[in-house]
Amino acid sequence: MDETSENSRNTFTCQLCGLSTTFTYYGQKPPNTRAIVLLEECFVAQDPFSPDKEKFLVLGSTCSLCRKCVCVGSDCSLFYTRRFCLRCVAERSDQFPQQIRAELAKRKQSPEPTAL
Ligand SMILES: [Zn+2]
Ligand SMILES: [Zn+2]
Repeated sequence: MDETSENSRNTFTCQLCGLSTTFTYYGQKPPNTRAIVLLEECFVAQDPFSPDKEKFLVLGSTCSLCRKCVCVGSDCSLFYTRRFCLRCVAERSDQFPQQIRAELAKRKQSPEPTAL
């Protein structure tokens, strides 16, 4: 861990899309929740719009391969037993099962304008 102090004031920044927001907790067991244990260590923020203290939002997590912070957006990461950023997935797509690759292929299909 070599944390530079410059950006460490509880700000989560997605290193792929640049999304930046404050988080209140990093880990697998958000505080004030009764029995929730997350599948992975996540950046978590309390839902500011909910009076219910148990409500929280998962902002993102750390790629288990490159250790980049990535948000949970479908353009940035996916969870397949562990969190992977889409860059690592693209680099190692042959190591992921067909199901995951099909899922990614679907995401990539952007409606391309076809010339008539
Ligand atoms: Zn992102
Ligand atoms: Zn990665």
